[in-house]
Amino acid sequence: MKILIVNAGSSSLKYQLIDMDNEETLAKGLVERIGMGVPGHANMKVDDKTVCDVEEPIEDHVKACHLMLGFLTDPEKGVVKDMKEIGAVGHRVLHGGNKFSESVIINQAVMDAIEEFIPLGPLHNPANLMGIKACQAVMPGTPMVAVFDTAFHQTMPPKAYMYGVPYEYYERLHVRRYGFHGTSHRYVSKRTAEFLGKDPKDLRIIVCHLGNGSSLSAVNGGKCVDTSMGITPLEGMIMGTRSGVMDPAVVQYICDNDHISVDEMLNICNKKSGLLGISGLSNDMRDIDKAAREGHERAKLARDMLIYGIRKYIGQYSAAMNGVDVIVFTAGIGENNIELRRDVMAGFEYMGAKIDQEKNAAIKPGHAYEADISAADSKVKILVIPTNEEIAIARDTLELVTKG
Ligand code: AMP
Repeated sequence: MKILIVNAGSSSLKYQLIDMDNEETLAKGLVERIGMGVPGHANMKVDDKTVCDVEEPIEDHVKACHLMLGFLTDPEKGVVKDMKEIGAVGHRVLHGGNKFSESVIINQAVMDAIEEFIPLGPLHNPANLMGIKACQAVMPGTPMVAVFDTAFHQTMPPKAYMYGVPYEYYERLHVRRYGFHGTSHRYVSKRTAEFLGKDPKDLRIIVCHLGNGSSLSAVNGGKCVDTSMGITPLEGMIMGTRSGVMDPAVVQYICDNDHISVDEMLNICNKKSGLLGISGLSNDMRDIDKAAREGHERAKLARDMLIYGIRKYIGQYSAAMNGVDVIVFTAGIGENNIELRRDVMAGFEYMGAKIDQEKNAAIKPGHAYEADISAADSKVKILVIPTNEEIAIARDTLELVTKG
């Protein structure tokens, strides 16, 4: 079966068509600047080569889906003859609140729930819904599945997911930690067990998903027991543009002093902080590394803060699980940044974790592969496992639609 994976944002839509007979990506692409009143842009790549590329007004997500399907079924450049060859669509959805601990076939009740959780995912859930509705409009009758970023973390115990505010806020407003990047944490922790030839039940794993957004999770016996992101993706270590965790009084203090609203301040915390805000240069770790090597003090500070933050979570999660068997690096920074992996792992010999510098350095940026980078005498395995959220979404979709 061929499965289409859709990740809809408010003004963009990323897609990928996967042939599940061999899990091969047939095509992928992006539609951007949807509904922005300026010319939009849409493309499709096959074997990493751009075969379709247009600039034209794209007024809404329905038009974006028409463009996507037009590319996929193009008589010359397309990869399927007919839309009917696409057996199902898997949608990435940000927030499933406390209702979804796994992926589900989309029906009206599921769409209502995604809508219900808009207050918890105000940027993403409305866009995810628009993507679902647009696909339903252009592909009527095709089964669709929702795969939630929060689902994997639903196994956390209350002591890990509750915040210390009065309990009524949890009961009345669902205030709690949800966690994100769940599809990646699930895929990578499962692959970790397969890679080591072990039963997930026998492993305590710390997954370090380090990208423009970063989160760590503690996975004990195959189940998530804690994660660093919170009610929104803002909590955790510093990220590309996010501040990560801090005393909430900082928000009030800056709002009062600079006469800005909480909304404006949260926008600063989400979009102007982290590596970008500290360095004043960039949210991209490659730029930060380069500037730090050239002696830029604030780039060095930003890098140090990120590494220190990751190390603190590793310590916390080791404590949460009474030890750790595997520490695994994934996502853009985790897979590609040799020096960051080296510096994150420095000095963890006291808990039995020692990196092999040569194996670590052998994984060249842009060419990540599954690898054990722990030293021969390291009790804790240290791995690099490239994440693949699209495959995880496609597998869930296939399973649910073939199960009936
Ligand atoms: P992600 O959000 O997972 O796409 O990760 C984005 C981050 O990964 C950025 O900070 C990049 O600097 C880093 N990254 C992505 N690809 C590479 C690469 N080939 N070499 C070094 N860093 C990379």
